[in-house]
Amino acid sequence: MDIHEYQAKEVLSNFGVTVPRGALAYSPEQAAYRARELGGERWVVKAQVHAGGRGKAGGVKICASDTEIQDATEGMFGQKLVTHQTGPEGKGIYRVYVEEALQIDHEFYLGFVLDRSSQRVMIVASAEGGMEIEDISADRPDSIVRATVEPAVGLQEFQGRELAFKLGLDASLVQQFVRTLQGCYRAFTELDATMVEINPLVVSGDNRVIALDAKMTFDANALFRHPHVAELRDKSQEDPRESRAADRGLSYVGLEGNIGCIVNGAGLAMATMDTIKLAGGEPANFLDIGGGATPDRVAKAFRLVISDGNVEAILVNIFAGINRCDWVAEGVVQALRETQVDVPVIVRLAGTNVEEGQKILAQSGLPIIRATTLMEAAERAVGAWRNDLSQGVVVRDPGASKSLEAAS
Ligand code: ADP
Ligand code: MG
Repeated sequence: MDIHEYQAKEVLSNFGVTVPRGALAYSPEQAAYRARELGGERWVVKAQVHAGGRGKAGGVKICASDTEIQDATEGMFGQKLVTHQTGPEGKGIYRVYVEEALQIDHEFYLGFVLDRSSQRVMIVASAEGGMEIEDISADRPDSIVRATVEPAVGLQEFQGRELAFKLGLDASLVQQFVRTLQGCYRAFTELDATMVEINPLVVSGDNRVIALDAKMTFDANALFRHPHVAELRDKSQEDPRESRAADRGLSYVGLEGNIGCIVNGAGLAMATMDTIKLAGGEPANFLDIGGGATPDRVAKAFRLVISDGNVEAILVNIFAGINRCDWVAEGVVQALRETQVDVPVIVRLAGTNVEEGQKILAQSGLPIIRATTLMEAAERAVGAWRNDLSQGVVVRDPGASKSLEAAS
């Protein structure tokens, strides 16, 4: 789970990291008011979206008066900010952070990530701050310095000093730098983060080490241990399909194609999507109903997939071990009876109670296309979707007794 810059700054400052003074605003008037409260002569207004690269995209503006703040923020609120990290659809701006504008002497890059090969938290830093890390590693790979932290003892001061020297930091700043590193490391480990990025970490005109930007990502599976972090979630920044699914306890990944996939287990989801591609189609999503799914849960999953306007065919592929095919079949039938489904539905069931499941589907009288193997299911899904498009009509009426299977 991602959080906003202003939230990450608050979290990190509680761990001893120095951040600029700032305040949040929900309207241009409030932004100007916040600036007056902060005092000073120059401010930076920063669009709060879950993405970096805001500066280049017009989401970070320096202002020197009330009017400038009002003008700058009027151009932000309610707009979509498109940066190289948001994708072409952009992210909505509903909050703006107003911050004192600092005089910057130098910008550094500082990141904390999980390094899978060493199985450690890795610190990545560079004296070429301000640029994205991808660009730094492409243009100035030699400027990147790294250190891994031994979890049993935590981040050691000598490691911080070593990094400071490698970055060429002035000796008078080393202590502040080490305190920043330790604050970030503690926030990372104590709050189950998966990423902390400060880009840039700056040396200000008055010789302070300050986190000018902050980004944190948290392990969603550990949020139950950190209610204060969990409540920082901002659904306006998420794919609405994915947040609706998360609210219903389903895991959903939205994609760009037209064939909706309801599966159990991530491995089967991968195989299903591969097979759809092999058969010439494109998956619109994958939705994992998990193990032991009740008919209700399956019906919920179904409604969620249908609500995506891009979905032009639905493939249900269940390999039931813990799950029960009869429950899945009941769920599919329930959803089709209760919801207007005007796209072809293909169901492939295997495993526990498969005969009962098939019987429920067959006796439902609903136009469900059945398949036995995964390849067959994918081919039928792609075939049904193509046919549907080439005929230019949407045929399916959930009440119709004519089985599509019989028709094809
Ligand atoms: P992003 O990474 O999304 O582009 P940043 O917060 O890193 O956004 O801001 C982009 C640039 O704007 C920074 O590299 C810095 O040069 C400038 N900047 C940001 N905040 C301030 C501030 N409080 N004072 C002065 N300059 C700032
Ligand atoms: Mg930045």
